[in-house]
Amino acid sequence: MVDAMIHQKWDEETDVVVIGSGFAGLAAAIEAKNAGCSVIILEKMKGYGGNSTISDGVIAAAGTQMQAEAGIDDSPERMYADMVSAGLGLNQPELVRTLAEASAEVFQWTMDYLGVKYLDRIEQFGGHSVPRCYTTQNRSGSGIIKQQLRKVKELGVQVRTRVALQNILKDPDERVCGVLVRDGYVHADSSSGIAKYVKARKAVILATGGFGNDIDFRTSQDPRLTREIGSTNKYSTTAEALREAMRIGAMPVHLSWIQLGPWASPDEKGYGCGPEFASYIAFAYGIMVNPASGKRFVSELADRKIRSDSILQIGQPCIGIADQKGVACSGRDIGHCLKKGVVKKFERIDEIAAFYKIPAAALSDTVARFNTYVENSRDEEFGKPILPNAEPLRNPPYFCVRLWPKVHYTMGGILINSKAQVLDLAKRPMKGFYAAGEVTGGVHGACRLGSCAITDCLVFGRIAGKNAAEE
Ligand SMILES: Cc1cc2nc3c(=O)[nH]c(=O)nc-3n(C[C@H](O)[C@H](O)[C@H](O)COP(=O)(O)OP(=O)(O)OC[C@H]3O[C@@H](n4cnc5c(N)ncnc54)[C@H](O)[C@@H]3O)c2cc1C
Repeated sequence: MVDAMIHQKWDEETDVVVIGSGFAGLAAAIEAKNAGCSVIILEKMKGYGGNSTISDGVIAAAGTQMQAEAGIDDSPERMYADMVSAGLGLNQPELVRTLAEASAEVFQWTMDYLGVKYLDRIEQFGGHSVPRCYTTQNRSGSGIIKQQLRKVKELGVQVRTRVALQNILKDPDERVCGVLVRDGYVHADSSSGIAKYVKARKAVILATGGFGNDIDFRTSQDPRLTREIGSTNKYSTTAEALREAMRIGAMPVHLSWIQLGPWASPDEKGYGCGPEFASYIAFAYGIMVNPASGKRFVSELADRKIRSDSILQIGQPCIGIADQKGVACSGRDIGHCLKKGVVKKFERIDEIAAFYKIPAAALSDTVARFNTYVENSRDEEFGKPILPNAEPLRNPPYFCVRLWPKVHYTMGGILINSKAQVLDLAKRPMKGFYAAGEVTGGVHGACRLGSCAITDCLVFGRIAGKNAAEE
């Protein structure tokens, strides 16, 4: 019986215990430490950083200096509207507003305080109405995680790996007062490691990420998402900490809204390299067609839910197509995608048709029609935003990828308020208990816009750390 137990003997004490070493956990730890607290970060895996470190490192922010210099008219209100539109209005308004209003400041913080470096370009991902997505210089979330870890170490905060959360403990006043962990944990073996009790004098902050690779948990929410549907997440992205938070009374929200990435390829395992080609090149500058008809069927820059649902409706992998100019405009090198065979190269449109068994005349017609949209800067069929540097698809060689969605992100989790306090089933803040990042739900509603997760993790991670310190 671990509920409401009073421990006479703790193995260790600290002010704030942070569980998880991704974007959210590290941001929380930095702020709690800077507010004068002692902090320990506990991470179940051998390595740091969770999905954060393998992410693409693209962060969304509205009303930034970079946008002003590029003449892009954006604002937190506009970002809010885009997020709520993609989220089908299920988003908790105060959480979206908090995120959007803090986005420019948190982006600046990553540069000024953490020393993160970004590419000198602003992307427009699906569902965003203007370019507001910034990519780290190494094109990976590790570009942020490494800087967060450097700061955490500089501040003297310990990050302990292979220490898994088992139970969250409450005192007789229902205040979260510490955790029971397994020290020396080996993933998926809940009996591994030694039991240890760690007291949190001020608060516990849960930052344990999503559950995209927990087949059992995700099929209990959405039975269609069986093992056969791949996932872009690390294998360790599982739900045990979320289950524990619910067990002690946290309010779950939107658990069955699970995002599939429309840019994933069935020709490789996990995230792979297909998404880089599809997102930054084929969707941005080219087209996606149904191989049975040779026709486009959706805006290639619609939000992820619209695109994934449309591909699933087609019922077979669809084909993303771009040309040499599109590759050049993206500033990306696709050599590794070609080497792996996930992206294929063709000299002519009819070769593409023959290879993927697409009706050749229909495909030529689709390309010709799309080219007039690019020339007129207006997609008359699907309203896809035509990017300012886009050019008609007529510069061989052409490059193609097969596309079939994979589980990418879990919008649902435990409900927090704008102070990052975890709410109970009566929507009351749970004393001494905070959460941030993908383990929380309510921010993105039915569909997260690409690049908004990093903003979410950093904004609410920082809020959680600051408020935990004030307990
Ligand atoms: C391939 C990929 C690319 C992506 N690219 C982008 C992008 O470019 N932009 C964007 O905005 N979003 C992106 N996302 C989404 C984004 O990366 C994640 O939502 C975000 O990193 C989640 O951060 P987090 O801190 O909440 O969790 P994580 O980074 O997953 O960290 C959680 C940590 O908690 C640990 N943990 C879990 N359970 C326990 C436990 N019981 N005890 C102790 N530790 C535990 C985990 O091991 C993990 O290290 C991408 C996701 C993927 C998978």
